[in-house]
Amino acid sequence: MLKKAVKKLQPYIPEEPLSVLEKKVGVANIVRLSANENPFGTSPKVKEAVVNWQFNDARYYPDGDARNLRQAVADYLQVQPEQLLFGCGLDEIIELISRSFLEVNDEVLEPWPTFSEYKLHAEIEGATVVDVPILTNGKFDLEALAKGITAKTKLIWLCNPNNPTGTYLSVVALRQFLQQVPPNVLVLIDEAYIDFVTSAKQPSALPLLKEFSNLLLLRTFSKVYGLANFRVGYAVVPPILIASMQAVRLPYNLNSLSQLAAQAALADQAFIQQTVVRVEQARQSWTEFLKQQGLKFYPSQTNFIFFAAPNALKLKDYLLQHGFLVRGGLRPDWLRVTFGTVAQNKQLQHLISTFYAS
Ligand SMILES: *Cc1c(COP(=O)(O)O)cnc(C)c1O
Repeated sequence: MLKKAVKKLQPYIPEEPLSVLEKKVGVANIVRLSANENPFGTSPKVKEAVVNWQFNDARYYPDGDARNLRQAVADYLQVQPEQLLFGCGLDEIIELISRSFLEVNDEVLEPWPTFSEYKLHAEIEGATVVDVPILTNGKFDLEALAKGITAKTKLIWLCNPNNPTGTYLSVVALRQFLQQVPPNVLVLIDEAYIDFVTSAKQPSALPLLKEFSNLLLLRTFSKVYGLANFRVGYAVVPPILIASMQAVRLPYNLNSLSQLAAQAALADQAFIQQTVVRVEQARQSWTEFLKQQGLKFYPSQTNFIFFAAPNALKLKDYLLQHGFLVRGGLRPDWLRVTFGTVAQNKQLQHLISTFYAS
């Protein structure tokens, strides 16, 4: 009865609620540094907006077009409001793209490792995913990606900066790559972490939207905006595609609280700037620490770092017993750590060096 593709599916494994995990491992106050959430919380302006929401509106359907949020994001990015497609998290946008464009036996190209949901949704649609391994320095193998394009290729996913490697691809390199992509192949640039990039003044691929009509840009409020619980993501879509994609979208996918929260979060850019500064300091501290430890890592432009950790499973368990959840299982003997507060980073680094010293 099930679709052939669905029968053999490997589901995305979501984070367990911390209370459940704490009970399971018998450790109190676990710090979660496995999901790239904002350790500094959420802008207080969001709380104010949410608390002041008119509860009487609960009975009404939300604004299916997210008009206020749409206008705010359009102003912020300097794009047309009609170009924006909102989703219940970027997760939904990834699903929606796969659902809108992929047919059975189409090919999807992606660097590997990258965010696992691109593959999941491609497989649900019966498409074939072609993984192009990253280079030894952690960067995308753009040459191999360009060579990997065939007559069957429909989508190319580029997460920039990439999760889990943390590496950033410049707009110049991206433009060079896009020039080699046929106009009937859609390129999806997932900028979930773009706000964390400090190595470039204008890190976003936004200007490329004017040059290429086969480009979609994806953003989320879950990471730097500290709003993961509210589930708001969006895509900037070429005008020619937007009507069809809106037709595929569920009509009331974003509730009013989420719309309100995202708008308040966007308005507080001071909070974002503060987070970015603190994350950059954390990045420096982790880079120095891993160098000192002699552990291989990729240069990060995000709020996490991916590093080679001999005996990774044991280390992950040791850290959990000492109150820190980090992300394993992305590559054998590698771990991904989300940066925490100054105190958390210090404590976690101390635990790692203790583990390897013994
Ligand atoms: C976290 C993440 C997402 C999903 O974000 P949501 O908006 O919370 O669904 C998408 N892409 C990448 C690369 C991510 O790391």
